[in-house]
Amino acid sequence: MSTETRAYQKCINLACSAEYDCSEVYFKCPACGDLLDVKYNWDKIRVPKKLSDFAKRWATRNNRLDFSGVWRFRELLSFCDDRYKVSVGEGQTLLQQNCGLAQELGMEPSSLFLQYEGLNPSGSFKDNGMTAAFSHAQMVNAAASACASTGNTSASMALYAHSCGLKATVFIGEGKIAFGKLSQSMDFGAHTIQVAGDFDDCMKQVQDVCTELNIYLVNSLNPFRLEGQKTIMLRIIEGLGWQVPDWIIVPGGNLGNSSSFGKAFAELKEIGLIDRVPRLAVINARGANTLTELVNDKGLKWNGGKVDNKIADDYFADLDATGYRPDTIASAIEISRPVNLKKCLRALEVCNGVVLDVTDEEILDAKAQVGKYGLGCEPASAATIAGLKYLLANGTVGKDQRVACVLTGHLLKDPNATVNYHSKMAREFSNPPVQVENDLAKIIALMK
Ligand SMILES: *Cc1c(COP(=O)(O)O)cnc(C)c1O
Ligand SMILES: [Zn+2]
Repeated sequence: MSTETRAYQKCINLACSAEYDCSEVYFKCPACGDLLDVKYNWDKIRVPKKLSDFAKRWATRNNRLDFSGVWRFRELLSFCDDRYKVSVGEGQTLLQQNCGLAQELGMEPSSLFLQYEGLNPSGSFKDNGMTAAFSHAQMVNAAASACASTGNTSASMALYAHSCGLKATVFIGEGKIAFGKLSQSMDFGAHTIQVAGDFDDCMKQVQDVCTELNIYLVNSLNPFRLEGQKTIMLRIIEGLGWQVPDWIIVPGGNLGNSSSFGKAFAELKEIGLIDRVPRLAVINARGANTLTELVNDKGLKWNGGKVDNKIADDYFADLDATGYRPDTIASAIEISRPVNLKKCLRALEVCNGVVLDVTDEEILDAKAQVGKYGLGCEPASAATIAGLKYLLANGTVGKDQRVACVLTGHLLKDPNATVNYHSKMAREFSNPPVQVENDLAKIIALMK
């Protein structure tokens, strides 16, 4: 099968390497239970000779696929026919060069870039993946979709399901979902089920529910979703005049984004569209730092595909035994059993990557700084800037290296976190409202 078609699915476990047609729907390899990749026979696809050729599509933006910031790059995710492609205009995002924040961080003013994914239709980067997953869902004629979510996946799924007429069911954990996100999935008409547990519990339940009821799962276990997220990297390269930055920095939750970025760069290098791969930094919240502990403390690595599974299995058994629950203000990355762990390890190998964790206070300080100089973001996104501070301080990132931080979600997703930081926390960048009597002289006195 693998040489006849443009695209197929392949198990990432080297010892298995089973292949499946793209018309088959699995969330995990039926033979061994490992993750699946979408693979391409590049010689069957008319890939542009150079990346800048994609810029021609800006001139034909009345074509919905050329308008989409994902499908504009469609040759690089060529797994389904155009007629199945679902788009709500995702990926109209921008790479903001942020001189003010760069200077505040002690960098060369021209070297810091913020890839603002909050501009997506549902307000987070998830739309890049969802447009691809729902296109695949249309291709296989799925009738219903579901996901477990810390909020943004559900908002995005609900939006796409609604736009192509699929049923949508969201599984959320107790308490932790930010209101901006919850309000979206309700407004977009998703069936919302709140499970007495956390995200990791929901993730486990939804997989069984989807298998049992034959429902299309759109979590990042879904390999087609990750194909769409590759285009975030293409838009960064596009924003830099078709040049590759030195560093990509991304928050790590379920590790779908970091995984897809590594895959994007490996493929671009393989087909000769870039000659150099950037380095990757994945930033965890301290209260949900599985990746950091496994990689930095326990030495877990991809190792050319020979992952020492026992290290991770022991770690997760320990979490289970102690009843560990992740806890961070950055609810989008409050995940302690990341489903894409192995693919992320591979991305770290491809990109000579690093991993670290940051505290909630550091995240919120960085968030206020992004807000002061840039477009604002939700807490998880600001983990990138908080992590960058460490990487600059220890010399891993040079002050004049070109750094692109992926701001994954919109500021307004989680207004509670913002208001609380400014009005209650009295931190360095807190900017609380000032109370005054309803009296002109006193108001004027305050303005001086
Ligand atoms: C989903 C999400 C993340 C985590 O991304 P993963 O791909 O799961 O690592 C980070 N930030 C925001 C805003 C998100 O919605
Ligand atoms: Zn397998």
